[in-house]
Amino acid sequence: MIHQQKYNFTNWGKNIQREVANYFQPETEAEIIQIVQQYDKIRVVGSGHSWSDICATNEALISFDKFNKILKIDKQNKIVRTQPGIKLWQLNEQLDKVGLALINLGSIDQQSIVGATSTGTHGTGIDFQILGSQILELTLIKANGEKLIINKEKDKELYAASIVNLGCLGIISEVVLQVTDVFQLHEYTTTIPFDEVIENLDTLLVQNDHFKLWWLPPTDKVVVYKYNRTQEKSNDSKLRAYINDIIFSVYIYRFLVFTGKIIPALAKTINNLLTNGSKGPIDRIEKSYKVFVVPEPPKHRETEWAFDVANAKEILKSYKQFMLENKFKLNFIQEIRFSKADNFWLSASNGRNSMWLGLYAYEHEHWDTVLPKYEDFAKQHNGRPHWGKEFSADKNYLAEQYEKYNDFIALKQQFDPNKKFENNYIERLFS
Ligand SMILES: Cc1cc2nc3c(=O)[nH]c(=O)nc-3n(C[C@H](O)[C@H](O)[C@H](O)COP(=O)(O)OP(=O)(O)OC[C@H]3O[C@@H](n4cnc5c(N)ncnc54)[C@H](O)[C@@H]3O)c2cc1C
Repeated sequence: MIHQQKYNFTNWGKNIQREVANYFQPETEAEIIQIVQQYDKIRVVGSGHSWSDICATNEALISFDKFNKILKIDKQNKIVRTQPGIKLWQLNEQLDKVGLALINLGSIDQQSIVGATSTGTHGTGIDFQILGSQILELTLIKANGEKLIINKEKDKELYAASIVNLGCLGIISEVVLQVTDVFQLHEYTTTIPFDEVIENLDTLLVQNDHFKLWWLPPTDKVVVYKYNRTQEKSNDSKLRAYINDIIFSVYIYRFLVFTGKIIPALAKTINNLLTNGSKGPIDRIEKSYKVFVVPEPPKHRETEWAFDVANAKEILKSYKQFMLENKFKLNFIQEIRFSKADNFWLSASNGRNSMWLGLYAYEHEHWDTVLPKYEDFAKQHNGRPHWGKEFSADKNYLAEQYEKYNDFIALKQQFDPNKKFENNYIERLFS
């Protein structure tokens, strides 16, 4: 096992940095239990892709980069048992080789499986729940070193409590996932006026398996992504993929957002240019994970909140007005996605089909004023923040939003009475 003293932790967004006293990369469950028994304060890091200070600690930090193997694949029942540190891209590749795939994905594949599920990471699709819904069973090492197996069928209540856990119930040493047969997605991407999307939202939601929007305010149009499951063969050309996914989405996009940063007055022109450049349409069929995942974006800041889809049209109108009135000059795409209701205690989609509205900014000099203004907007509409992105909503507000919030606090107290897995973030939310 690697044990390093004085390790510098930095998250992907580079907005969280800590000097860690003890950094571990265990390779066996026995080593994890040994660390748990030896140290009073521990956090776990997946890939460090959260913008919130959820992983931040100066004390013991465990990474599962070397505890990342698939343990068993049951091809017939489409069930996979894996260690927690495996990255989504590794899972995608290894599952693909045996004709299997994850049921849904978010926009990137760099997260670890348990890092992603622990914060309620989601993709898009009104009939698809957050990524954690693919878990059938998890093995938890509690603060006293005891192992607890939590099964979807046998331990219904505990299962619902522990899928979105923010790393504070214990250390997850294994997960069993329900996956599916490999599948193809037909992507059709074009631009249409924002108001037309609002008007036709219900139809767009039911007619498409996976549907999301990118908006570059104050542009009138939005980029509409429709991904539908199909039996047809891939027809994407390597040239199109190179021009679109590398030249346009990486190099030209990065150059333009950088230009908008140094000359903010150009942001509007750039956003119009980028929207026009996306009117395509892109019309292609490709393997699911290649369509879900977009090229890695430039470093930026994010907050994202989930709202009740029942009020989606009204909220979208207010959101558009809010963004235009505030004239934020956001030089970055703003994303609108959807997820199906679930019963996970701390899932932002708990009890309601959800619309996710993100506010993303590229090294924006006014982030500290943009973020609180957006939070006020989100709270007025009973939004629930993504746990892995930035927010400052306090536990009173959150307890109003989650029926089981206080039950989660009680469970955490029972599993971790001496607050071994607490850091400032967890203390702020649950103590
Ligand atoms: C470029 C980018 C794109 C993104 N796109 C999306 C998206 O499309 N959809 C979306 O919903 N989110 C998205 N996110 C947010 C991201 O998915 C979440 O923040 C996710 O939690 C990060 O995964 P990670 O592996 O880096 O976990 P970390 O950020 O490293 O950790 C997250 C939590 O998991 C806990 N944890 C990790 N492993 C274990 C374990 N074995 N046992 C117990 N606890 C554990 C940690 O303690 C922490 O509490 C994106 C982030 C970035 C940077």
